[in-house]
Amino acid sequence: MELNDLYRRVIMDHYKNPRNRGELEDESVSVQLNNPTCGDRISLQLQVENGVVTNARFTGEGCSISMSSASMMTEAVKGRTFEEALSLAERFSSLMQGEEVEFDELEDIEALSGVNKFPARIKCATLAWNALKKGIEPQKH
Ligand code: ZN
Repeated sequence: MELNDLYRRVIMDHYKNPRNRGELEDESVSVQLNNPTCGDRISLQLQVENGVVTNARFTGEGCSISMSSASMMTEAVKGRTFEEALSLAERFSSLMQGEEVEFDELEDIEALSGVNKFPARIKCATLAWNALKKGIEPQKH
């Protein structure tokens, strides 16, 4: 898979030095998801309070795309309301469909934009975001 150098460096940095890797002791939400086509597995834990994601951690194993995306996602959602977090997930889907999306201060996420040229890897990149949606949507009521 060919990605540009800058993007590859950002992805490898998150893969080798994952942010928010580990488990929360007092999580409110826990979600497990797999991507069987690649063998990626993620367990996502969220702490939520009054409609806000106050903390996020993940464990799991998989390819550099899936793990770096989980690292970026957990960084991105901390402190966000459910609506903001789901809107980020929507924007990430648009990015994976080849649309130009800017993530402003979360520009690391844009490093995954090159993945949209490799359909088999899109499921790797979206795994963590799908876990986020699965975790938040039942909490909205
Ligand atoms: Zn993968």
